[in-house]
Amino acid sequence: NYFTNIEEGYTMDENLLKKYASLAVNTGVNIQKDNILVITSPIETAEFARLIAEEAYKAGAKDVVVHYGDQQLTKIKLENSSLETITDYPSWMAEAYNSYARQGACFISIAANDPDGLKGVPVEKIGASQKARTSALKEYYDNSMSNKCRWCVLSVPTLSWAKKVFPNVSDEEAMENLWDVIFKTVRVDTENPVTAWEKHNAYLDEKVKFMNDNNFKSVHLKSNNGTDLNIELPEGHLWAGGSDDDVNGVFFNANMPTEEVFTLPKKTGVNGIVYSSKPLSYGGNLIDNFSITFKDGKAVDFTAETGYDVLKQMLDSDEGAKYLGEVAFVPYDSPISNSKLIFFNTLFDENAACHLAFGRAYESCVKDADKYSEKELEEIGVNNSVIHVDFMIGTSDLEITGINKNGETIQIFSNGNWTF
Ligand code: ZN
Ligand code: ZN
Repeated sequence: NYFTNIEEGYTMDENLLKKYASLAVNTGVNIQKDNILVITSPIETAEFARLIAEEAYKAGAKDVVVHYGDQQLTKIKLENSSLETITDYPSWMAEAYNSYARQGACFISIAANDPDGLKGVPVEKIGASQKARTSALKEYYDNSMSNKCRWCVLSVPTLSWAKKVFPNVSDEEAMENLWDVIFKTVRVDTENPVTAWEKHNAYLDEKVKFMNDNNFKSVHLKSNNGTDLNIELPEGHLWAGGSDDDVNGVFFNANMPTEEVFTLPKKTGVNGIVYSSKPLSYGGNLIDNFSITFKDGKAVDFTAETGYDVLKQMLDSDEGAKYLGEVAFVPYDSPISNSKLIFFNTLFDENAACHLAFGRAYESCVKDADKYSEKELEEIGVNNSVIHVDFMIGTSDLEITGINKNGETIQIFSNGNWTF
């Protein structure tokens, strides 16, 4: 029973694909009766978007809406239109997302673009277009980042991406290899993926509980590559990981795969230096071998062997872009990390290494966040920005300690892994 995609020239076990689509619908966004599902998919992965749609209707969705993205067309547009046109984001396109977010729809995004598919496009155009999009879709992001909507980001291979991860094999083999590794990391290769996810979420819950019980005032990260960073945590911060509940108490898994336990740093409480440990694909461009120096939360200096201009553009997106919105712990000894692959796709690379994120913090990581105004959240130390960009800093020798509510120093990570 095989599924053939003529354009991309590979065959795939249809049962596995259906299992994956069903997992996305049920364990990912957890579709309830009469929910609306909005799928964002690259045109190359349309077959899989259709499978998700079928499973969503089976699970009781009343409507499934698909938005197809076309990275090559985006490149053509960015190269040929003016900065003015690029920054004038059409309101009907923004409304397509905002109105569904307002109605409490569920969102599945397929992250599968060519990691450097926009290479050669002036970075200010990429930055301007991303900023215009995130500003126009503010309502959609507000609803997602505060768990008013259930959402899930997952991936399926595209040829350009697969060739980047597996450059030395045939097209067909690259696609098969990437499918295999995705199925493994999202546990679709197990007998019962739903149970496998329940077990995995219970494991992450233990780590989350430990972090929350200690109520750390600050954490300190240190590696032999030079990373030496102190991060204060705001009062009322919450660590999260694995499945989360939306505002109505319905669980969902925002990322598939996921291995991280994360919270937000205090906006003005980050000091020291960090070195990247994996390349970062941002806006269709690669940034690699970079370091950032923080003073009172702000990135005051940075270096990059590759993609310096892209990094600069990103940090200049707005005031909050120079501050952190996330600190996340992922053991060095974890399934994605152990694959020793670099995916050039943040969904996978961020779940293979401890990471930080520039820009907006998840309000869901603040206790009773919905009781505060935007200004009050800022006073607590919650960063806001049009961007949220994760970058990887975890190494095999990373040591993490924390100072808990009683002033005791607790070892959290030793040699890149949880100590408990
Ligand atoms: Zn993260
Ligand atoms: Zn993040």
